[in-house]
Amino acid sequence: MRITAVRAAAISVPLAEPFVISLAVIDSAETVIVTLETDEGLAGYGEGAGIAMVTGETTATVLAAIRTLTPALIGQDPFAIEAHHRAFDRLLSANGAAKAALDLALYDLMGKAVGLPVYRLLGGHRTTVETDMTIGLGAPDAMAAQASDLVAQGYREIKVKAGSNRAQDRAAIALIRAVAPHAHLKVDANQGWTVAEALDMARYYTGFDVGAIEQPVPHWDLDGLVAVRQRSPIPIMADESCFTAHDASTIIKRGAADLINIKLMKCGGLYPALQINAVAEAAGVRCMVGCMLESRLGIAAGAHLVAARPNIVYADLDSFHDFDDSSVIESAFGFDTPVIRLTDALGLGVTIAGDGAR
Ligand SMILES: [Mg+2]
Repeated sequence: MRITAVRAAAISVPLAEPFVISLAVIDSAETVIVTLETDEGLAGYGEGAGIAMVTGETTATVLAAIRTLTPALIGQDPFAIEAHHRAFDRLLSANGAAKAALDLALYDLMGKAVGLPVYRLLGGHRTTVETDMTIGLGAPDAMAAQASDLVAQGYREIKVKAGSNRAQDRAAIALIRAVAPHAHLKVDANQGWTVAEALDMARYYTGFDVGAIEQPVPHWDLDGLVAVRQRSPIPIMADESCFTAHDASTIIKRGAADLINIKLMKCGGLYPALQINAVAEAAGVRCMVGCMLESRLGIAAGAHLVAARPNIVYADLDSFHDFDDSSVIESAFGFDTPVIRLTDALGLGVTIAGDGAR
């Protein structure tokens, strides 16, 4: 089987509610859907959704990067995944979302070609994935009302954004814990604190049984992350500090994190994500798979990854609730709150509106 064409289409969908984190206010989902066509009539689908202030990518750069990478795939065998990533990295450093779009489509094709869902190609550990839901920054009472609603819906894992205003962060976690006494809570500061602020907040959060603190300090401050992790009473998760397997290796060697948040859009897709997880697992560090603002296509890929590997113990795969992707995606996976159920559908198991069943 040979790849004959690469098509990419940008979509922009307004969010029902703006999503606020310490880095930005986000009011629409901007994503790129890729189709790989082959000489055997099979099509593979992938998605690239950068978040500019994290990955440095916009829809325009994702489209341009895909055009740059396309010649490396035309006429090639989709199964040569290692060769494709090496070719991508020779043509263009970084650009994880663009590379992820192509990588996801390659895995979709591989699964369809051999007659297996991707999670079985990658390890086949389980078929269900429990996801958390993330509460964005807002007034503490509004954040608590959202937590109460999530618990009522059946969520057991809640991730709480922080890092903008510490007085509000303190008030929010107290109110959230009061309405969600049994939830497993994680806090994500999105780089918003200094080392001293992070340690102060970590001590405060111990009173509310917070299970992990994600990216307390700026992504470039590895010394700071080490300092926080050494003295924090709560496990520290690296997110924006960890894009690649090399980052993961450095973070682990320095003792900078207890957990790593893998995102397909940071690292460039499933193949590099498996490398990060392997580095982490060998060092006894567990992982979460998180997301940007992806449609059900990108979320499906994240869920297949979590389902494949037992070292991935948390899933933060919630973005598909926030925007209506029905103009693009017909079907993807089952969802019984809070559990994503993967099916026996081949590849990533996603059908694309208007393209028919391929
Ligand atoms: Mg994060």
